[in-house]
Amino acid sequence: MGGLNIPNIIIEVAYLLAAVCFIIGLKRLSSPALARSGNQIAAFGMLVAVVATLFARPVVNPWYILVGSVIGGGIGFYLARSVQMTAMPQMVALFNGMGGGAAALTSISEYLKMASAGSTLATDFSLATMLGVVIGSISFSGSILALGKLQGFISSAPITYRGQQVVNGLIFALIALLGVYLVGFDPQNTLVLWVAAALALVLGVAMVLPIGGADMPVVISLLNSFTGLAAAFTGFVLRSTVLVISGALVGASGTLLTQLMGKAMNRPLTNVLFGAFGSAGDAVAATTDASGRSIREVGLEDAATLLAYANQVVIVPGYGMAVARAQNSVQELAKILEQRGVEVKYAIHPVAGRMPGHMNVLLAEADVPYNQLFEMDDINPEFGRTDVVLVIGANDVVNPAARHDKQSPIYGMPILDVDKAANVIIMKRSMRSGFAGIENELFYEPKTSMLFGDAKETADGLVSAVKQL
Ligand code: NDP
Repeated sequence: MGGLNIPNIIIEVAYLLAAVCFIIGLKRLSSPALARSGNQIAAFGMLVAVVATLFARPVVNPWYILVGSVIGGGIGFYLARSVQMTAMPQMVALFNGMGGGAAALTSISEYLKMASAGSTLATDFSLATMLGVVIGSISFSGSILALGKLQGFISSAPITYRGQQVVNGLIFALIALLGVYLVGFDPQNTLVLWVAAALALVLGVAMVLPIGGADMPVVISLLNSFTGLAAAFTGFVLRSTVLVISGALVGASGTLLTQLMGKAMNRPLTNVLFGAFGSAGDAVAATTDASGRSIREVGLEDAATLLAYANQVVIVPGYGMAVARAQNSVQELAKILEQRGVEVKYAIHPVAGRMPGHMNVLLAEADVPYNQLFEMDDINPEFGRTDVVLVIGANDVVNPAARHDKQSPIYGMPILDVDKAANVIIMKRSMRSGFAGIENELFYEPKTSMLFGDAKETADGLVSAVKQL
């Protein structure tokens, strides 16, 4: 009693520093220019938290932790360096699943330790454990299934059967009953905890099965918020404030991101979870639309001329640019256009590509200056005074049907108003549809020209053609 316990204070200050780093890091992630340093600050915060924990709770031989960190860090480093940009959602799913699993296992082991020591298990402790274990387990198995679907290990189509929602509801009810029993009546009964964990693993799989592969990024974001919540509950179990804070941050940001993605796609979360959307894919549209309008093709030279003599060109990147890995060629094209006095801007739709921030990451990788990137609300008023819009592998995010066709699955989704520009050049390989599996009326507009081919090859071709003008 009495006097200052110096090491404890240092540890508390270290945890506070870590929490501040997480918050600053997260804040910086909202700007492309600051995101990289935000990540580094948050990673530094995590290092501080891990080291402080090693001093605060010397429960395990530090060598185990060091060896584990080197092995885990090495695998993570290798994966992060070698992963293809288009496979990023899979990697996020894997990391997320590991986080959920780790939270669940930590809660279980703490509970077993307390139960076997014969301690009285307080209600808040049992409740936090139950929630951490169940939510963490759902996140683990759901994320691994999402990874399998995205990577093609299992069919990415929605897997549905009659009575599926009833079965899922029953599993959920059973878990809830077990939770009430453990927390309210028999906290020492660890078997109940194990059974609930096993059922939660089944529920994670059952929840993700009916979701179409291409909807997986939204689900991964949702599961990410689950992992955050599970970590926060584990923080309560361990009485670790920093874990509660970091878990709550992940939980809140995952929830917000899920909401934002739903809004940008104009689809409520229930539609993502139960709508079995995204299965259509790959429909091939005709070269003539229902009212007899035909598409117009353009060659490299003509497209290059149109671009080179424009005052303002807006580039709209989409999923196809990521698939073709065309970002460096696109950046080179923009550079030579600027050298000719053309003003070049990039229009970034919030759900272009297949994950949030997909286009920002690719364009940053190609060293596109951040001040050339414009968000949807800022660039939409510009299209009316734009000479040429160059749509590179984007489709749904420029489909005007979203504005007026009430029957369209994307009706109500905010889009980039590229049809307001004087000319539109569409770079894609064929008349195949995008993610939503629907025809795009923009392709049949008289002001639109189709420049068919792989986005990278075409962008390289445009660079050479502009240089020759
Ligand atoms: P889309 O999926 O609508 O269209 C992509 C187009 O790229 C296709 O029509 C395809 O046509 C073309 N393409 C594919 N490969 C190449 C290539 N190598 N070279 C040139 N073109 C190519 O993409 P958008 O970015 O416009 O829209 C994203 C969609 O994904 C939206 O519907 C959004 O709701 C959804 N989504 C987005 C998420 C996100 O977080 N960003 C998450 C989940 C879904 P072709 O085959 O003819 O070449």
